[in-house]
Amino acid sequence: MRDVAAQPAITPNIEDYDSVYNFFNWEIAYRGLNGLPSGNGLNMAYEAVERHAEVSIKNHTALRFIKSDRTTIDISYAELSRLSNQFANLLNFLGVAKGETVFTLTGRIPELYIAAFGTLKKLALFCPLFSVFGPEPIYQRLSRGNAKILVTTLDLFTTKVKPLLDRLPALSHVLITDIEKDIDDLAISLPLRMSKASSAFTIPDTKPTDDALLHFTSGTTGMPKGAVHVHGAVLTHLVTGKQVLDFHPGDIYWCTADPGWVTGTSYGIISPLVNGVTSIIDEEEFDATRWYSVLEEHKVSIWYTAPTAIRRLMRMNIEPKKQFNLEHLRMILSVGEPLHADAVKWCQKTFEVPVLDNWWQTETGGIMISNFRSLPVRPGSMGKPLPGVKAAIAAVTESSIQIIKEPDKEGHLVLKRGWPSMFKTYLHEDERYAKCFRGEWYLTGDLARCDADGYYWFVGRADDIIKTSGHMVGPFEVESSLMEHWAVSEAAVIGKPDPLIGEIVKAFIVLKSGTTINENLKLDIMAHARKKLGAAVAPKEISIVASIPKTRSGKILRRLLKARELGLPEGDLSTLEPS
Ligand code: AMP
Repeated sequence: MRDVAAQPAITPNIEDYDSVYNFFNWEIAYRGLNGLPSGNGLNMAYEAVERHAEVSIKNHTALRFIKSDRTTIDISYAELSRLSNQFANLLNFLGVAKGETVFTLTGRIPELYIAAFGTLKKLALFCPLFSVFGPEPIYQRLSRGNAKILVTTLDLFTTKVKPLLDRLPALSHVLITDIEKDIDDLAISLPLRMSKASSAFTIPDTKPTDDALLHFTSGTTGMPKGAVHVHGAVLTHLVTGKQVLDFHPGDIYWCTADPGWVTGTSYGIISPLVNGVTSIIDEEEFDATRWYSVLEEHKVSIWYTAPTAIRRLMRMNIEPKKQFNLEHLRMILSVGEPLHADAVKWCQKTFEVPVLDNWWQTETGGIMISNFRSLPVRPGSMGKPLPGVKAAIAAVTESSIQIIKEPDKEGHLVLKRGWPSMFKTYLHEDERYAKCFRGEWYLTGDLARCDADGYYWFVGRADDIIKTSGHMVGPFEVESSLMEHWAVSEAAVIGKPDPLIGEIVKAFIVLKSGTTINENLKLDIMAHARKKLGAAVAPKEISIVASIPKTRSGKILRRLLKARELGLPEGDLSTLEPS
């Protein structure tokens, strides 16, 4: 790994935001990519790995994995090229066709990243799942994504996947990362198969519009939606890596997000490698001392993390600059939920480096609004639109949109179509996709305002989606699982504000008649939800209620439940069904 000496004055890639914004052109930016050597298209894996695997940085560390015991595994660009070629050949051998889906369900281990690039090379669709999910969210995603191949560990296979197999007829093989021999025709050894696969592979012609990545995100109604991203999205990953993450040669970069969430893929896998830097991946979850040690030991220069983690660090009795040598750190970035002004100020004071909040979502595939090194930060603001991105605040109805020009007015945050990483559709749900647009404008589902100087400020979600520890949770998915408990007659779920993790998932439950309420029953319902959904998604609080407020057409009025829970005004109750 190249050593980055302390970098006192690295000039930002964007020195003058306004002039870059005014003159930016995606066609010119495209010249920063190579395209396939055959001249036939653009492949994400080629741009992230192959083009670096034959030039001077081929032996440079692409990925550094930190294992639980703090030992490391380094994989160079050249090695990653060979390993992902082997995986692509293995997919060929297993009969995977273009567009079929390859899922991973693992922690942050090398096999996940190798599978990602091998799948992209093979032109199959790659979908990483969060390993902390319980069996039900795993099933929903594997079945909605028509999983053909799943890469997982023996433990996860045994505890979470095996009981689902009868319900997954499209699944042809499970590749298990930590067994030496095949279990049966379905569950086979990944290391064994990799050892037999050739390390030479030619990427087929790839159109920028060919499907590449699949990410599930929660909706207010219905089960999770699979946002499909295309190979051409790599242009956004290249550009935002330069403009926001400010990648420079020799940077050592750490994105703390899991690839099961879009940040961990766009910015934990693709963007750093497209930009030729070293990406650090820690197998472990949050631990303040461990994180500071990682920053120190691995001389991290750019650190991309999340508000929940920053708030946790704020509460610790640690003075990082005194206790750790963080001289290489030159920038901190945050995404996923609001980074409130006090957190920005704490970070600036504590680390003495720029702290840049930015905004984007699964559907946008890449950062859309950000603070920049060369712009003054307004603590609490998400910043300004990326060059090449047109954002606005709008009044939106079922069929119309009106852009609000007046500053500081709240409205829907909308983006004009046309950036390369815009999702292509929701898998098998074109109608749901179409509903996200009004003409040329994409509706993000967020409410925001824009001040007179063009800085955007997050106001809230326009729907009932919950953000807990930076993760989207759809109330419907949680309610459906709760309803499977023998004692539950009705369930409604809201996000209840929490100073540490943003929101906690809170459930209101109506019991079946004749059921006696007691603490044990509540605990049993919680345990049921944790088992089905996993701890990241299951409710942390449950209230037993006599009825759940609904509209006359039977829709749960989660907003009203939330207002009552928080003691806020109840608003317009004209649609409320009398109880
Ligand atoms: P996801 O699709 O899971 O990445 O979640 C995207 C959503 O997270 C956005 O629509 C916002 O509601 C929220 N979000 C992301 N970044 C920010 C930010 N910087 N400030 C406030 N909310 C954010």
